[in-house]
Amino acid sequence: MTVPRIGVLALQGDVVDHMRALEAAGAEATPVRRASELDAVEALVIPGGESTAMSRLLEVFDLFDPVKKRLDEGMPAFGSCAGMILLADEVLDGRPDQRSFGVIPMTVRRNAFGRQVDSFETPIAIDGVPGGPFEAVFIRAPWVERVGAGVRVIGTVEAGAESGRDGGEGPGGRIVAVRAGVCLATSFHPEVTPDARVHEYFVGMVRGANAGPVEQEERGTPE
Ligand code: GLN
Repeated sequence: MTVPRIGVLALQGDVVDHMRALEAAGAEATPVRRASELDAVEALVIPGGESTAMSRLLEVFDLFDPVKKRLDEGMPAFGSCAGMILLADEVLDGRPDQRSFGVIPMTVRRNAFGRQVDSFETPIAIDGVPGGPFEAVFIRAPWVERVGAGVRVIGTVEAGAESGRDGGEGPGGRIVAVRAGVCLATSFHPEVTPDARVHEYFVGMVRGANAGPVEQEERGTPE
């Protein structure tokens, strides 16, 4: 199997943990701080941190436009937490000057759970990630309030999970993981747990993107 070379945007946030998780998932991981480093990777992880700060640093480091160009050309990307916000095409409760790449048609609300509680942990089932529920760690996390065409919801949490109750505050639940083509986004931080299955899922997406359109087709896995 090929070893994809995946960059982690390293302007701010939990870069090292993502690199470790990517390596555990069978990729070669490398930090990306400048355009020449971006040129050398085939996919990009945008870590958690603070989306307002990352947006500003992307401009200071002249990286916003190069990253946007690669994303528009179809580079696979995985954004966690602040990274999810940066991939969205609409951000609620953002700062007026914060920018996003707009590559996933979805509305994301910043700090959405944080109105109740800063951080929490809960197991969630992720469609396409085998092996049972994933222990998801949420830190001042966003949630997704709208998904557009081509965006598949692959993970939700019950309303109320953040307050330690059993949920059940209504139908559905909060959308916390989505996939849109070669892009993956999670509200939570899979890099802070030793479980590398979400990174394995992303590495699989990158391998699929390399293999071309035939291999990219979803293979009728049972729901
Ligand atoms: N609240 C942060 C933001 O708006 C995201 C928090 C995180 O990435 N852990 O960017």
